[in-house]
Amino acid sequence: MSAEESRCRLVVGSRNKKKIEEIALLLSPHGIEVVGVADYADVPEVVEDRDTFAGNAAKKASETAQHLNQWVLAEDSGICVDALQGAPGVYSARFSGEGATDEKNNEKLQRELEGIPPDRRGAGYTCSVAVSAPDGTIRLTQEGTCRGRILEEARGNNGFGYDPYFLVREYHRTFGELSPTVKSHISHRARAFERCIPKLVALLKVEFPEVVH
Ligand code: IMP
Repeated sequence: MSAEESRCRLVVGSRNKKKIEEIALLLSPHGIEVVGVADYADVPEVVEDRDTFAGNAAKKASETAQHLNQWVLAEDSGICVDALQGAPGVYSARFSGEGATDEKNNEKLQRELEGIPPDRRGAGYTCSVAVSAPDGTIRLTQEGTCRGRILEEARGNNGFGYDPYFLVREYHRTFGELSPTVKSHISHRARAFERCIPKLVALLKVEFPEVVH
């Protein structure tokens, strides 16, 4: 069987195209192809009502897996800003309320941080991953974080969400300026996946012995 034929397809419990692209980049070298839930008809929206990233990730993975009767990987992620006592946290995607967009969320973040000096604008991204078996049992969880600082001005067009404002100290660049390849090595998502890939590959090897090597 050729390398092309031997790829395994894993459902990702997300409709965020940018996030799915990043996950695809992380899993592709391991022979795992990903497909978002938008590619399936009638997958119900999961209500993200848990107060932790891990709780929401597990809920998304488990409910979607049971609905599709397939293995599902889900992740919940967001940014926690020190000066805002960890906000927006699990509310990162809907920080600006009904009809939230990345632009509106960033505008709200800037308003809330107005007058706060650079040395008090520390923040951290967190990514929680959960993998569910078709019966809804969570078989794998992992978390990764990445520290940085929120700038007053956006820099760069790469990434999504809060990336153009998130400065990674070691690189003197925002995630908006760093290439997808660099982000795929140092981000919260990269760190969470780096930790869970060996176990994920082992799990899928048992489930799909003919395709995962
Ligand atoms: P989720 O899809 O419910 O996990 O929401 C994730 C939200 O957190 C996104 O909509 C962004 O606002 C923010 N976020 C998570 N990861 C990233 C990232 O890598 N870059 C920028 N924003 C992110």
